Amino acid sequence: MKDNNRIIALAGNPNVGKSTVFNALTGLHQHTGNWPGKTVSNASGYFNFNNLTYKIYDLPGIYSILAHSEEEFVARDFICFGGSDVVVIVCDAGCLMRNLNLVLQVCEITDKVVVCVNLLDEAKKKKIDVDLNKLSELLGVRVVGTSARSNVGLDELLSNIDLTFGERRKSRKVRYNQYVEDAIKVISDAIILDDSINKRWVALNLLRDDGLLRDKIEEELMIDLSDEKIDNSIKQARTLLLDGDITISEIDDVLTESINNEASLISSKVVSYLNEDYAKKDRRLDKILTKKSTGIPIMIILFAFIFWLTITGSNYPSMLLQGVLFKFENVLFNFFSYLHIPNFVNEALTHGVYRVLAWVVSVMLPPMALFFPLFTILEDIGYLPRIAFNVDGIFKKCKTCGKQALTMAMGFGCNAVGVSGCRIIDSPRERLIAILTNSFVPCNGRFPILISIITMFLVGVEGGFWNSLLGVLILMMVIGFGIFMTFVTSSVLSKTLLKGVPSSFTLELPPYRRPQYGKVIVRSIFDRTLFVLGRAITVAIPAGLVIWCLANININGGSLLSILSNVLDPLGKLLGMDGVILLAFILAFPANEIVIPIIIMSYMSTGNLVDISNLSTLREVLVSNGWTWVTAVSVMLFSLMHWPCSTTCLTVKKETSSIKWTILSIVIPTFCGVVICLIFNALVHIFV
Ligand code: GDP
Repeated sequence: MKDNNRIIALAGNPNVGKSTVFNALTGLHQHTGNWPGKTVSNASGYFNFNNLTYKIYDLPGIYSILAHSEEEFVARDFICFGGSDVVVIVCDAGCLMRNLNLVLQVCEITDKVVVCVNLLDEAKKKKIDVDLNKLSELLGVRVVGTSARSNVGLDELLSNIDLTFGERRKSRKVRYNQYVEDAIKVISDAIILDDSINKRWVALNLLRDDGLLRDKIEEELMIDLSDEKIDNSIKQARTLLLDGDITISEIDDVLTESINNEASLISSKVVSYLNEDYAKKDRRLDKILTKKSTGIPIMIILFAFIFWLTITGSNYPSMLLQGVLFKFENVLFNFFSYLHIPNFVNEALTHGVYRVLAWVVSVMLPPMALFFPLFTILEDIGYLPRIAFNVDGIFKKCKTCGKQALTMAMGFGCNAVGVSGCRIIDSPRERLIAILTNSFVPCNGRFPILISIITMFLVGVEGGFWNSLLGVLILMMVIGFGIFMTFVTSSVLSKTLLKGVPSSFTLELPPYRRPQYGKVIVRSIFDRTLFVLGRAITVAIPAGLVIWCLANININGGSLLSILSNVLDPLGKLLGMDGVILLAFILAFPANEIVIPIIIMSYMSTGNLVDISNLSTLREVLVSNGWTWVTAVSVMLFSLMHWPCSTTCLTVKKETSSIKWTILSIVIPTFCGVVICLIFNALVHIFV
């Protein structure tokens, strides 16, 4: 791409359709979803219009330029100093007044603004009408109406962006009270600037007491703020403010009030509500979904249903996939023999590497391909923030915040996704707590272990409706215990390593929206399922080789695998398991799915991973190797609480850029798992 592209910044409140506009223009797949706060860093892409190349940046959603959160800093700095030629502000036609606050603030910085009034289709359904021409007239900038989700109005948006380049307009500037205006004038007279940024805005922000922005202004606009003339003008301006009884700590409130008044004035002139009860349905639904007595039970039932659907629905496709992939193993083996590849290399490649790979794909893919779309539908409908709202109180008690619940919900699909999802949490302290505790919620990889053990040892292998209902109930109890441990560790971390008070956050409840099923499937399969699978495959390949070598390299008549499990046996027994199980957990570091296959392989000394799909046969094998219900419960507890898989560890390292926190994310759950298993086994010893 050539460097002299035209630069566009895409700004707006959270959840107004910025990413949808961005994707429609660039053809990229930036994450969209019906909840505020999902875009945290700038994404960029290119598009062509009238033979010119444009580079467009999708900024995090913000409510105000008077930055308070990390997103606001990122977006503000880009708008002010990012060198964009035009700022497109996407607004929600359904709540224009609030959106206009940001529009007015950006108009103070630059005249090169295009306002994109999006979600017109939704507004129309709610019988809200926006007079776009009048709005353009009042704001002094170009205004375009769109329904980005159905690609309506985007061509017009492009041509308006194009036209804005060639014209000089004067955008509307908010008038503050006379004291503020006089103070602005004093500073503005003292500074010299080119016209890339509005002088009045710079003066206003030197008047405010925002140290970070002051440094930025000095650095980016090359103004020497230590210059006596400027320094004196700031002092003089602040004295003028005091004459009007406005202290420096109050100035943001005074500015916000004027901006709000102006936004409400403009909105009253351009928006007409033909039906005052437009949000009635949403409010009625919220009364049920966010009320204490009904909200939490509905949430539990909803998740139980999703788990049940994921578990039962993925059995059959898993078997099919396994059949196909395992059949191919022979083809591969014969092909390598045909190429005269030495037998042990062939064995290692096909029965080692390929088999583990096939295993991971066939066990992981179907449940993820079911769970993630279901989860994404909840996201698209707008239900996720309601979960955060419902459980915020409990998290506050642990000195963290309700948004952690959303990252935990993502963790059910995959802990790596949950950990990267922690970006939605503003406070670094709370984000770290959420990252360190995410693996307490079992991911899709651990569900098969939990479910098969529950079925074999606690419910019975006969099947039937009541048995599977009991199975789901026990599973929910196990998950509940994981959540309980999250609360306990979060609370301990908040009192020790990560001391602090819970941050208050504004979590807006978005309107309920009908999900776009096609996009949900594409997004959940590509962004989440294949992303996780890709990472899992990368680690499964070397793991397959290591496991095969351990099982096939013999020393003094015993395989390395059996030697190692003998070494681990005393520790394993102490935890209610045995050396084979403990070694299986260690070797399954790349993907938890292969714990059970490794256990069977070791017990049966086959040298290759074996699958026993018939649970009664599997139960017999396990029982003949000393398993009882105590072993079963210990394995479940340890599966719930041990080191996260390698993909998750890698993600923790990426997100925290710290070895220390990555090690802690391994140590904390492992420590809890060991202690809980020891306590459980001691109790069994005493009481049973
Ligand atoms: P962002 O947070 O501003 O980037 O917003 P997104 O692009 O993620 O969109 C938020 C939600 O609004 C998603 O569920 C979108 O599918 C939906 N959405 C975006 N544009 C439109 C639109 O024009 N009409 C309707 N009905 N929904 C839209």
